[in-house]
Amino acid sequence: MTTPQSPFRGSVTLDGPSGTGKSSVARGVAARLGAAYLDTGAMYRAATVAVLDAGVDPDDAEAVACTVAEARIVVGTQAGIEVVEVDGTDVAVRIRGAEVTRAVSAVSAVPAVRRQLVEQQRALVAGAEAVVVEGRDIGTVVLPDATLKIYLTAAPEVRAQRRAGQLGVTDPGEIAALAADLRRRDEYDSSRADSPLRPAEDAVVVDSSELSQAAVVDRIVALAESAVAAGDRT
Ligand code: C5P
Repeated sequence: MTTPQSPFRGSVTLDGPSGTGKSSVARGVAARLGAAYLDTGAMYRAATVAVLDAGVDPDDAEAVACTVAEARIVVGTQAGIEVVEVDGTDVAVRIRGAEVTRAVSAVSAVPAVRRQLVEQQRALVAGAEAVVVEGRDIGTVVLPDATLKIYLTAAPEVRAQRRAGQLGVTDPGEIAALAADLRRRDEYDSSRADSPLRPAEDAVVVDSSELSQAAVVDRIVALAESAVAAGDRT
């Protein structure tokens, strides 16, 4: 059976805090829309690998900016194939590790790093007819004229449980630690001066606390296809 070609053309932005299932949803939506997919979190994580490998303190903004400016960061745009490289080395697995997760918020708060990666993100999506881009500031800063903006959220305890499920963690103490780590990153990402995490004024806020992943994907695909249909009529 062949999947009918989606009529979607344009960009869908998917922002929101950690642990909402954003990446799985974004990949699912991209596959259904036949769209390219860009994980901008992977780019900030790759930049963090460069900083750690250079022995630079993630809180030293100037040194971080210099190190990232010299790094060659490559991130793929296909939903089914994850490509993440720093200076030619595959770091797709390493970027998900605890060391990178601890340091990434500090690296991504540096304005020069954001300018560099936002420019790279815009260049990557410019060539795509249809694209789904996930991150924290995509609807507010990177693609303010996107076709559809989604802000995906979920209750903090639901997010901690989901993250625990992904990592196979069952110990209540470890789940509490995961919840604390999610809170720490949300606070850092929401309170930074440059491009803080917040919904764009024209974003549709989707609370996934009570919804399955498939239901969230269905909802976003329907919104994307109707946004294009509405655009065709005007
Ligand atoms: O989405 P993910 O959890 O992989 O993102 C890792 C970190 O990268 C976030 O906690 C945030 O600090 C940063 N980030 C960002 N802007 C984006 C995407 C990610 O600041 N567009």
